[in-house]
Amino acid sequence: MKKIIITLDGHSACGKSTLAKAIANELHYIYVDTGAMYRAVTYYFLEHGYILPDNQVKSDWEDALSDINVSFNFNATTSLNEVFLNGVSVEDRIRMMDVSQHVSAVSKLKLVREKLVVFQKKMGKNKGIVMDGRDIGTVVFPDAEVKFWVTASKEVRAARRYKELLEKGHAISLNDVSANIELRDHEDSNREESPLVMPKGAYVLDNSILTKTETLNKAMDYINSIL
Ligand code: C5P
Repeated sequence: MKKIIITLDGHSACGKSTLAKAIANELHYIYVDTGAMYRAVTYYFLEHGYILPDNQVKSDWEDALSDINVSFNFNATTSLNEVFLNGVSVEDRIRMMDVSQHVSAVSKLKLVREKLVVFQKKMGKNKGIVMDGRDIGTVVFPDAEVKFWVTASKEVRAARRYKELLEKGHAISLNDVSANIELRDHEDSNREESPLVMPKGAYVLDNSILTKTETLNKAMDYINSIL
């Protein structure tokens, strides 16, 4: 069967990654979480003092870019591609709240985006890839064969992310999770560089009242209709 590119875009915590992983698993495609790449850069900036207390990025941040190497390595135990920063896995660390709080300030920087987009395009060269993020169907792969716009109500998104973080042992309140999601949605949708918008021709998948299996079935029906 021919290999294609599948993109998933949408607001924070809308279920993109869960669905993207499931689709990749069904089709034996590679799954790439581009949010993890922006999170890894943000983590580097935090660790090296580039993030100021007012959430601005220090003016000399460009100097750091050449020292940042983001890559993915397959973890055979979890069967997932883990994100590495300069050779060290940061998969768990980048999900913490400090990274979530600053990632939108970092992801709006043009040169950061350019660096990561080059890498993302390379990963899709041989197709057979499922990639999720905020600009995948618009900027990274505007000609992708299948594009999804994944969505769910604000309440559902906050509740799901809260549960996920609690299960991973993060001490956090539902209010903080909600506020962070709202802030990121606003910043990601209103930035100058590659703002989050629904890609042209995207298939809209609202999973507010669907189970994971129902969502996957809907997505696969659509993909099969294209394949
Ligand atoms: O997907 P996730 O919530 O982990 O993404 C974290 C942040 O990374 C987003 O809030 C957004 O600021 C940024 N991002 C982006 N473009 C992408 C993927 C993520 O700007 N393609």
